[in-house]
Amino acid sequence: MPPVDSRLSGPGQPQPDVLVIGGGVMGLWAALMAARAGLSVLVAERHRVGAGASGGLLGALMPHLPDRWNAKKQFQLEALVSLEDEISAIEAATGLSAGYRRCGRVIPLAGPHHRERALKHSRDATAVWDASGRTFSFDVLDRAPAASWPAGEAAASGVVFDSLAARVSPRGLLALLRAALEAMPQGRVAEGVDIVRLDPVARVARCADGTDIAFGHVVVCAGVAGFELLTGLEPRMLPRPLGVAVKGQAALFTAVLDPDLPILFDNGIYVVPHDGGYCAVGSTSEDAFGDAASTDGLLDDVIERALHLAPVLSRASLVERWAGLRPKAIGRDPMAGLHPEFPSVAVLGGGFKISFGIAHELARAVVRQIDGGSAGELPPSFAIGAHLEAARRVPG
Ligand SMILES: Cc1cc2nc3c(=O)[nH]c(=O)nc-3n(C[C@H](O)[C@H](O)[C@H](O)COP(=O)(O)OP(=O)(O)OC[C@H]3O[C@@H](n4cnc5c(N)ncnc54)[C@H](O)[C@@H]3O)c2cc1C
Repeated sequence: MPPVDSRLSGPGQPQPDVLVIGGGVMGLWAALMAARAGLSVLVAERHRVGAGASGGLLGALMPHLPDRWNAKKQFQLEALVSLEDEISAIEAATGLSAGYRRCGRVIPLAGPHHRERALKHSRDATAVWDASGRTFSFDVLDRAPAASWPAGEAAASGVVFDSLAARVSPRGLLALLRAALEAMPQGRVAEGVDIVRLDPVARVARCADGTDIAFGHVVVCAGVAGFELLTGLEPRMLPRPLGVAVKGQAALFTAVLDPDLPILFDNGIYVVPHDGGYCAVGSTSEDAFGDAASTDGLLDDVIERALHLAPVLSRASLVERWAGLRPKAIGRDPMAGLHPEFPSVAVLGGGFKISFGIAHELARAVVRQIDGGSAGELPPSFAIGAHLEAARRVPG
């Protein structure tokens, strides 16, 4: 057997109970939950924390619509509600801020049929948007709660104001989670460690430099690269990809805006006010792309549509243009839990567009499973087995 990497698992650095692959929002929550459960944890990140999709700009915590209620929507609702207390407890412990605010969301209604549908959703929300003793509303209003947010012409039939949506600074949250993890004696982060292969029986991860890291459990949180690591465990080639990358581009501005303003959302365009005079605008959704990291005219179009929605941004200054790859699993739903054939392997990924609102509850459930507990309230469609079954199905 190749030697265990002495830098990471040698005498001074004992083999971790849990090796987490990936320093994004999924990996850091997984590591923190494992450390809280008393397990020793090593986060192996091939570049640096936040190098993947999690190091972006938007941070919108957007609920699913309250119609056609199901286990996935219930899981997300409870996660969106519990995140607020989770973050404020870690902020109090670390003295850092994640820039979280339950600011709500405004959706302009362009015509009478949009208003009709919104009124139905409003009744749906009354029936289902209720968690941990708190209720949230999806109200249809004649006018926006704040003037010109959105511009009047976008909202000819009024607006929706939902009180459940929130926002967080993606980079602020990663810094917060990392600080909380590294403040615990059993939590470590190693950047520049690229895991290329897993041996789930020998419980060893092979690094790109040829060294190995031994582990008790490994949690694959590698974003879009996670699909490949998992596919590497299959004895045969999968007929369908386990997941795909969907590119997104976004931009950050500085503007004189009230940080209490709600998120604006219209037909895939988000305008997200943040603390410190920042406002993020996004996003493209690209199934086909050349360079994953570049920004281009597609982002210019998004910015133009955002300016139409929020003309006040025409006086804002551009700070950053950014692109990243969202992990979209074959079943469209997130992937979370133990691997059905390799109990030493757990997975946390495929969060596509909603990772920031649910990662902490996925992590809590996965760590419970690692600790010998049940999958609890995780929806069955999140199970790794469900995704593998879809990927193993030969296209008919
Ligand atoms: C433009 C855009 C806007 C978005 N807006 C929102 C939003 O408003 N709200 C929301 O909830 N979500 C949003 N998302 C989606 C969200 O960013 C992702 O779903 C989320 O960040 C995925 O987190 P992750 O931890 O699974 O993956 P990542 O953040 O990609 O992290 C994976 C990490 O693993 C590392 N890694 C990969 N392979 C290896 C390896 N072999 N060894 C070691 N390390 C490895 C990578 O370097 C990376 O740091 C947006 C995405 C984009 C692109």
